[in-house]
Amino acid sequence: MQGQKRVLVTGGAGFLGSFLCERLLQEGHEVLCADNYYTGSRDTVLHLLDDPHFEVIRHDITFPLYVEVDEIYNLACPASPIHYQFDPVQTVKTNVHGAINMLGLAKRTKAKIFQASTSEVYGDPAVHPQVETYRGCVNPIGPRACYDEGKRCAETLFFDYHRQYGVEIRIARIFNTYGPRMHPNDGRVVSNFIVQALRNEPITIFGDGTQTRSFCYVEDLIGGFLKLMAAPDGFTGPVNLGNPEEFQVRELAEMVIDMTGSKSHIVSKPLPMDDPTRRKPDISRARDELGWQPSVPLCEGIEKTIAYFEWKLSGASKALPG
Ligand code: NAD
Ligand code: UDP
Ligand code: UDP
Repeated sequence: MQGQKRVLVTGGAGFLGSFLCERLLQEGHEVLCADNYYTGSRDTVLHLLDDPHFEVIRHDITFPLYVEVDEIYNLACPASPIHYQFDPVQTVKTNVHGAINMLGLAKRTKAKIFQASTSEVYGDPAVHPQVETYRGCVNPIGPRACYDEGKRCAETLFFDYHRQYGVEIRIARIFNTYGPRMHPNDGRVVSNFIVQALRNEPITIFGDGTQTRSFCYVEDLIGGFLKLMAAPDGFTGPVNLGNPEEFQVRELAEMVIDMTGSKSHIVSKPLPMDDPTRRKPDISRARDELGWQPSVPLCEGIEKTIAYFEWKLSGASKALPG
């Protein structure tokens, strides 16, 4: 097929990765998914396994990988605080050694390489909303640092491989994203609240719930990935990708209780150390330079995510809902 590329997706069996693999296959590409199943699972890509253009390998990107590809999306890394803090040394290795290996692969094959960076590079931001030129406020020795500083170092490596070896890079700073196929035990706020509400268990708000996040629906985000990858040569980013509508965590809890008709009540838990107080992307760069902006409002995306978890918790195990 004309324009068909061989695309490597690391972390392709994770939440975002599974949607990306699916979308790339729909666009007619050949997709190689590399994942060590640390937080992902074959279940998220089970529905793709019959596609002759799709292949999965169990591989940890902290080790070298020799394959022939045209494009690389580097998504491998646990994204939920409970998971990335469970083995922080491995998180740093994945972000740093993993980036070096994938950049070495990109350099050898002359592949274009995309990095799934994060709003966490801004830490607990002093600038609001966050613009790409803001350099952030990160605690380098705190419990989140393995992720935040790991991702910051990965950005450094991407720019150094670009300047030193001419590797064509694309850096997306992704803000909180949610949707179907999140793991019920993922630990992030949207999946926690929906699962708790559907089970009529207490909704756990960390701190007083006035901290804010801006939630992007997964399919909106993946559209942004493809636009960024397709941007003209030399468009390195970083570019913020996220939904700029900002909500308090407490508002999210109330919305989920309301939409599920749950009997759950809200309980307070301690606020984790270094938990950012507020977060909202300035997406002017994505809008003006990539022509991208999200279109799914939170209530609509939450409704779809609730439907997914209702199906998942009802015991369905194999095929995914449409
Ligand atoms: P996820 O935890 O669902 O997926 C991560 C995937 O990477 C999993 O399948 C996991 O098994 C795999 N993985 C972890 N370490 C690996 C290693 N060393 N080698 C190979 N595979 C490995 O998380 P997600 O939400 O899909 O996030 C994907 C990427 O996007 C991550 O890099 C994350 O930092 C970034 N990101 C996500 C969000 C979000 O809100 N979802 C926000 C900012 C950044
Ligand atoms: N690498 C890889 N696949 C490749 C090429 C390189 O995994 O196809 C790894 C390799 O193991 C190396 C890393 O990428 O450790 C960085 O490669 P680079 O060429 O930049 O460094 P060097 O090999 O010179 O140390
Ligand atoms: N949070 C919460 N209850 C939960 C899980 C998370 O109140 O059960 C809060 C968390 O303290 C943070 C926000 O929700 O302020 C988003 O947390 P998440 O882990 O989803 O993402 P991140 O902190 O990385 O933005």
